[in-house]
Formats: sequence, C-alpha cells, structure tokens
Amino acid sequence: MRQITTREMQKLLSAPIFHEIGQTADESGLEVYLVGGYVRDLFLERPSKDIDCVVVQPQDPSQPSHEGMGTPVVAPGINLAKAIKKRLGRRAHLSVFKNFGTAQLKVESLKFKVETEIEFVGARRESYSHNSRKPIVEDGTLEDDLDRRDFTINALAVCLNSDRFGELIDRFDGLLDMEDRLIATPLDPDITFSDDPLRMMRCVRFATQLRFQIEEETQDALVRNAERIKIISQERIIDELNKIMLSPQPSIGFVELSRAGLLPLIFPELAAMEGVEVREGRAHKDNFYHTLEVLDNVARSSDNLWLRWAALLHDIGKPRSKRWEHGTGWTFKNHNYIGQKMVAPIFRRMKLPLDERLHYVEKLVGLHMRPIAIADDEVTDSAVRRLLFEAGEDIDDLMTLCEADITSKNAERKRTFLQNFQLVREKLADLQARDNYRTWTNPVAGEEIMETFGLAPCREVGVLKQLIKDAIWESRIPNTHEAARQYMLEQAQAMGLTPVEKQ
Ligand code: ATP
Ligand code: MG
Repeated sequence: MRQITTREMQKLLSAPIFHEIGQTADESGLEVYLVGGYVRDLFLERPSKDIDCVVVQPQDPSQPSHEGMGTPVVAPGINLAKAIKKRLGRRAHLSVFKNFGTAQLKVESLKFKVETEIEFVGARRESYSHNSRKPIVEDGTLEDDLDRRDFTINALAVCLNSDRFGELIDRFDGLLDMEDRLIATPLDPDITFSDDPLRMMRCVRFATQLRFQIEEETQDALVRNAERIKIISQERIIDELNKIMLSPQPSIGFVELSRAGLLPLIFPELAAMEGVEVREGRAHKDNFYHTLEVLDNVARSSDNLWLRWAALLHDIGKPRSKRWEHGTGWTFKNHNYIGQKMVAPIFRRMKLPLDERLHYVEKLVGLHMRPIAIADDEVTDSAVRRLLFEAGEDIDDLMTLCEADITSKNAERKRTFLQNFQLVREKLADLQARDNYRTWTNPVAGEEIMETFGLAPCREVGVLKQLIKDAIWESRIPNTHEAARQYMLEQAQAMGLTPVEKQ
C-alpha cells in the first residue's frame, strides 16, 4: 500500500474532471466526495474504472429536517450531475435514475483515453428490517453515508471541493486495515452482515481479489450469519462468485466460503467433495483441495472464466461415483460422465448461462480423463485423432485443464505424466498440421456412395462411411479422396454391392 499525503492525493487527482466536479459543487453550494472502491484502489495502486461520488446538501437550520420520510426528498446527486453536464457539454453523457436519486455521467478520456462512468448520489442513511435486504433510505450526512458501507477499506472519502481538495476522511481506520491487509466491517459485523447478507459474499470476494485476511471478529460474524445468505438472490451471489473465480488465486475464496459455512449453502455439490475417508488403512485424496489446486493451476495459465469453471467442476462427480472395492481400494469410476451430467443442473440453479458456455464446460468435464488415459498408455495416432475430433476447437483448453489436473506429490510419477503429455501434444500438433482433424470431413460423401452403387439413403451408406472413417483415423489408409474411394470399392464388394454402370 502506498502512503499518500494530501499534496500527493491532489496530484493523483490532477485530471481536470475532478476539479470541474469540485468547482461545480462549490457553485451549487454542495459538498462532493469521492468514495468507495476508487479511493481504496488509489492506495492499493489498482486500476479502477468506475468512480462513485457522494454529494451532500449542507443542512439549512431554518428548514425542517426530512428525517423519517422514508425516501430522499432532495436529490443533490442528480442536481450536481446535471450542473456538471451543463458545464462539460458534449464531453459528457448524462443518465438520470430518478427513482434511485442517482445520476451517471459518462466522460470521455479522464486520463486514460477511455470512457469513464462517474456515479453521483446524495448522502444517505439506511435502516433495515429483518426480513428484507431492502433498507429504508433517508437523506443523511457524509458520516451516515460512510457508516452504512460494508468494509473499512471501502469507507474512505476524499473531498473534491476547491478549499478542501484532496482531504481524506477515514472514520474507521480504513488506511490502517489496508496496511495490515485486513477486511473488517466499520460497525458491528453481526449487524452489517445480517442487514445485508450479500456483504458476506463481498467479504470473501475482497479477501480473494486483494489477498487480504478477514479480521477475526468479522470472521466469527460470518459463521454466525451464514444462514442469512438465503435471502439473497442467486443473480447477486453468482456475480460475486464469478469475481472470486476471476481472481488471481480463486482457491482463497473457496477456502474462505468453507470456513464461513457459506459453501454448503450456496454450493452443496462442491462442499460434498470435502474430506477424506479411510478404510482398511487406505485413504483417498481430499477432492475439494485437489480441485482447488487444479483451479489455481488453470488460473495461472488462463483468464477464461469458463475454463476455470470446468476446472472447478471437473471432479464434481466424484462423491457420487465413490465406491470401496475390496482388494482395489477407493474407486471413482465414470466420475467424468456423472460429473458432466451434473453441470447443467448446477448452471441452472446458479443462474449461469445455459448456452454454448454450458456445453463447453460439460464437454471439458466429460473429456477430462481422456488425455491422461492416452498419456498413460501407448500414444497412438487413432486415439489422438478421436480425441481431436471430440474436443474440436476446445482441444487446447482441454490440454490445459488436464495438465493442471496432474497434482501428484510423487515427483517421479508427475514427471512421467508430463513427459507423456508432451508426446500427446506433439502428436496433436503433428496430426493437426497433417490432416486438420478439427474440421475433418469424410473425403467420400454419402451422395458419392449412393451414386456409385445406385442406392437410396440406407444403412449400408452409413456403414461404408464409418469403415472409411475408421481406416483413416487408424492410419490404415491416407486421408485422401483417391485412397478413400479405393477402400470404399473394396469394402462394398465384400458387402456384396456392385457399382452401377455409368451411362
Ligand atoms: P469493485 O467495483 O471493484 O467491485 P467497489 O468497492 O467499488 O469494488 P462497488 O460494488 O462498485 O464495489 O461499490 C462501491 C462502494 O459502495 C463500495 O466500495 C462500498 O463502499 C459500497 N457498497 C457497495 N455494495 C455495498 C453493500 N452491499 N453494502 C454496503 N456498502 C456497499
Ligand atoms: Mg466499484
């Protein structure tokens, strides 16, 4: 974390837009503060694209207060955004959300020549009832507004008004927590989490993204309030889960979810993988921790969210396929196929997409044993070709997943696997270059077979096509039209078919 003096803060906020916001607020008699993630990320030196501003209407002592009215009566956020839009003209695009009392300005090229979204909202005070995460919202002071925030590191504010430009407000020692790399709630964590249980997911998410520890009392409150996650919609939960998945080391998040007792509630299939069973002195590995190791391995080489999901789910069928076989020990037969079938129900329940992204994950889960089986055995042309055909354009991702899956602690065994894997990869590259099997089509089409033998569509046509395919894939004949046609004539003869005379 970097230390920032007010002067340095002024430098960090030197982009003209920040001054324009402050000056416009001065002219409108409003106070304006940068808050939340943007301020936190200035200290953590993280890139941050959305900017949040809280706008405060200083209380006029001669006016009655609006306390208890339930909804914001004035909307200083909207008023300020409108005034800034007037000032910036075509350099900004304004959207107003009257019902929420917020407005958003899209400003071109703040600093980085990219469009930036700046959100303006009036300072608010919130109170919650037990049954809902929808609070009663009222106008409030800056202090009220910072009190309702989720974590101390997210409760920092920087003033943009000209006379206080760059002044930091840190009511809850957020800076200290950032230095200690801690996630802690500003107020009582039990109240914070119970009021809005989504904050528990955010807590784990920030711990994962920032590699921060969850402070002890906050951690205890997670455990006590875990059950309340049930009032949160799946859409919001999956949003946070995907942010965990996209972090540099996603395993941190799943370990924290487990420690908090949230995992069985939001992801029972994954929680079922935890633990080791011992019989007759033989233990199987802990499939939860193995899965997390594979997930981290994949995360190191790819930021494809769906490949990461495939890694998380690759062994999800193991608890259901687990058997104890006398003499053999623990087996997980067909866990890849059982797992493949579990993917769609999980995606449906979790509100993940049900399109080609689902099919991609299903395919990788179903195929994840194949490259290992090939590498374990003799690496033949036909086995590699079949794999190529089934994996299609996802073959590289499948190989990445399978390599990540080799987590054996036995160095010798690991080396052998990786060497054989290298062989599979070389053969893949070789075959792809030679005959491009990803998009393989039979050199003899069905029409040609029907024409040659005067056949209508029938079983024999399919049989001949399959025979040709097998012969090519097993390298018994070359992948050319000439060889395939010759082979077809021989096989057809054996089946009792004769070519019709050409007129
Ligand atoms: P990022 O944008 O990287 O996800 P962020 O901290 O900016 O991180 P946002 O969801 O953009 O997160 O929210 C902006 C700010 O609003 C937060 O920093 C926090 O102060 C506050 N906030 C957001 N969601 C909640 C919540 N559920 N409870 C309390 N405060 C919240
Ligand atoms: Mg944000």
